[in-house]
Amino acid sequence: MSTPQNFGSLVPPNIEDLIPYQPGKPIEELERELGIKNPIKLASNENPLGVSPKALAAASEALLSSNRYPDGGGFRLRSAIARKYGLDREEVVLGNGSVDLIDLLVRAFLGPEDEALLSRHSFMSYSIALKTAGRRFVEVEPRDYRYDLEAMRRAITPATKLVFVANPDNPSGTYVSRAELSAFLRDLPPRVIVVLDEAYFEFARADDYPDGLSFWGQVPRFVILRTFAKAHGLAGLRVGYALTNRIVAGYLNRVRLPFNVSLVAQRAAEAAIDDDEFVQRSRHYCAEALGVLTRGLQALGVPVVPSQTNFVLIEVPRDGVEVYQSLLREGVIVRPLAAYGYKRHLRVSIGLPEENQRFLAALAKVLGRSTE
Ligand SMILES: *Cc1c(COP(=O)(O)O)cnc(C)c1O
Repeated sequence: MSTPQNFGSLVPPNIEDLIPYQPGKPIEELERELGIKNPIKLASNENPLGVSPKALAAASEALLSSNRYPDGGGFRLRSAIARKYGLDREEVVLGNGSVDLIDLLVRAFLGPEDEALLSRHSFMSYSIALKTAGRRFVEVEPRDYRYDLEAMRRAITPATKLVFVANPDNPSGTYVSRAELSAFLRDLPPRVIVVLDEAYFEFARADDYPDGLSFWGQVPRFVILRTFAKAHGLAGLRVGYALTNRIVAGYLNRVRLPFNVSLVAQRAAEAAIDDDEFVQRSRHYCAEALGVLTRGLQALGVPVVPSQTNFVLIEVPRDGVEVYQSLLREGVIVRPLAAYGYKRHLRVSIGLPEENQRFLAALAKVLGRSTE
């Protein structure tokens, strides 16, 4: 009898070596595994204020038509997004979350000889998509938890085809300034496609934080990624989008699976994009809560990386995974970052006021520190 192993490895080496993306631990899983009642989750940068109310109403209504396939071309949602930014519908591509678009970019544009350029320790979906596709990439060290765009610029070679810049960044929460981004984008080799991932755009408040759209038309191959998962509170519905020129958009649409965004997600997002009230409320709440959380952490003597997002990166005095596990036993789920190469760090998403206080109290207990 022959087993499949006799014919060599079942998958190519790049697939064999993949380490799956580890999402934040679901609340139900912690309840199941440790029998903990009412845990809180501050692990996936979700919106603590819930779902955009307008989106919720639209999604409920859309459920009634769920026997039908969605519009595979996403006409209504793409039109709404285009209208919001004064672009053309042909310049908008929809994704099943923006991670879908990251995958499409890698698959559509990178050949076996091409390279992607990343910042080390940044969002893991970039390297996962690249490894899955068996494509090459170079990682540049950040400086003080920030993208080092000068070093990235120097790392561009004739093989460089795709550059990913998360601004603000995840998991550091830091940002690159308008001046830094502008210098990076100036006179890039024309074959380079710059992907500016603005998943936390709505939360950024720094005066010199640049809106990627202000560079529209200045870079020949430019892609802005945004998502409904964070500020609009639709993480569970999976919908994000790319803004780019029609040629790049056309290729993304060639590799996109039909119906990659569900009917419910399309309708919810269409309503959410005009729910400025909810986005502004989320933005203001998170800015204020970030201040409270930061001061609470500083009072515990825990270093905090300055953040422009709805989460913070903190440095703990012990192994990060160990502190994470101790916090789990207190019913608090945060994100360990060993997979990102940060061994003594945790990422903590902003929750409701009582959740943030519970996290601070649990951390104080786990670290044996007083909150005074
Ligand atoms: C959360 C996040 C996304 C968005 O993911 P979705 O697939 O839209 O949920 C994209 N990029 C970064 C850097 C993120 O942190």
